[in-house]
Order: sequence, then structure tokens, then C-alpha cells
Amino acid sequence: VIEIRNLHKAYGALEVIKGVDITAHRGDVVSLIGSSGSGKSTILRCANLLEDSQQGDILFKGEPVKWAGQGLDRHPADFNQVLRIRTNLSMVFQQFNLWAHMTILQNVMEAPVTVLGRDRAEVEQAARAYLDKVGISDKCDAYPAQLSGGQQQRAAIARALCMEPEALLFDEPTSALDPELEQEVVRVIKDLASEGRTMMIVTHDMKMAADVSDHVVFLHQGLIEEEGAPDILFKAPKSERLRQFLNSTM
Ligand code: ATP
Ligand code: MG
Repeated sequence: VIEIRNLHKAYGALEVIKGVDITAHRGDVVSLIGSSGSGKSTILRCANLLEDSQQGDILFKGEPVKWAGQGLDRHPADFNQVLRIRTNLSMVFQQFNLWAHMTILQNVMEAPVTVLGRDRAEVEQAARAYLDKVGISDKCDAYPAQLSGGQQQRAAIARALCMEPEALLFDEPTSALDPELEQEVVRVIKDLASEGRTMMIVTHDMKMAADVSDHVVFLHQGLIEEEGAPDILFKAPKSERLRQFLNSTM
């Protein structure tokens, strides 16, 4: 579904991604791990076109994202393609980013209705079903501030699902949560993985990464240091850096 080839990204003179290749086929769960500042969020943001990149290709369902301009002015050439990609790679953030002035149901319905122009009654039915799926159907009429962190994050996941995306991108979905609330969110992510959803997950939670991933990518200073199936990567890390990283997090 999504293919990142030889991605390079710099903020000014600071090169933060130095040539990274990542592919997520349909149904794959790919986790990105690595220490703070290694470039995990930047890769997701580039995949979702929230950031431009200086070099490399991003393919969505085999279709290359066309870029225009040079250097710092480089940007996606086709606005409709950007819209299609943002819609199809729905992102869930660490800080849920729910709209405070809207109820939970309105939060979940907003983008499908206003951005995609879908039928309001159909979207409402779907939104209620997704809220039920993540276990907070009783919170439809509550406002975000009235929910626990774990409930807010589950609402954010329902909102992402309501876009009917091809794939979900998660950036540290559990790291703003207390351990007991974290588990509610991990459970939802595990359910989604077992349904065969395509997902790219940036996480500090090595246990979740080991449980849900088909493929794990360990980043170090903007490069892939090691990658592989979780049972091999976590049990028999080859690189000394990965070994140290796992020792410090597990
Ligand atoms: P963390 O685990 O702390 O979230 P990360 O692996 O997600 O880290 P990134 O957020 O991708 O790391 O950042 C990679 C590098 O890019 C860091 O050195 C960071 O300081 C830098 N960086 C990120 N965003 C910007 C920005 N908007 N402007 C300048 N530098 C940035
Ligand atoms: Mg990050």
C-alpha cells in the first residue's frame, strides 16, 4: 500500500532522514522503533505528506507521489493526490488532537462529512459503530475534556477509522497515557492488527511492537540500523546499538 524509497529529509542544514526504505504491504503492521530524535515521527509525517522531503520517492498503491519545485520549495504537484493520500493514510497522534468544542460523535463525523462530502446519516451510523468497536459508545454526546486519556485516544482511533482509510499511521499512540489506560488502547490496536488492517506504528512500547508487528524497523540517527520480523529482531538483535536500545527500554 505504501512504499518509501530512499527518503531524505533535512530541516535546514540538519539532515534527519538519510536514505530510508520502508514498505507496508496490504495487511502489514510495520513498527518503527528507535531512540528520541532518530526520525520516527518525521518518516510518518513525510509518508502522510505533512512534511516535504528533499529526495526519494513515496508510492501510494504503486502510484508515485509527484513532486514539483526544487530544494526547499519542493512540494507535491497534485493537490487531489495529497487529499487522497491524507484520506487514505489516517494518522493518530500522541496528543489525540480532538476538537474540544465538539462532542465525541461530532469529532468522529466531522472529516468524512465536511472533507469527503459523505452522506451525514450514513456517516453517523458508521461513527456510532466505530465508537462501539473501540468501546466508548456511551460517550457519543460527551466532550473530549470529559473523557479519560485512554478514552480520548480511542475516540481519535474511531475518528481515523471513520475515514475508511487504506492504512492507519500511529505516532506514539500510548505514550501520553498512564499504564492502565495504555492497555485499553493497546487492545484496540491489537484488534485492528488481527483484522488485517495495514498500519505503521511509531512506538516506545516494545511489548506491543513485538505482539502486533509483522515487521520492525529500528532507526538510528535517520538511518535503518536493523530491521526484521519481531521474533528475530527482539530475541536476537544483531547490532550492538539495537541491543543497547532494547536493554534500556525493556
Ligand atoms: P521522539 O521519539 O522523541 O518522538 P523521533 O524519532 O520521532 O523522536 P523526530 O521527531 O522525527 O524524532 O525528529 C528527528 C530530528 O528532527 C530531531 O533531531 C528533531 O530535533 C528534528 N526535527 C523534528 N521536527 C523538526 C522541525 N519542525 N524543525 C527542525 N527540526 C526538527
Ligand atoms: Mg516522535
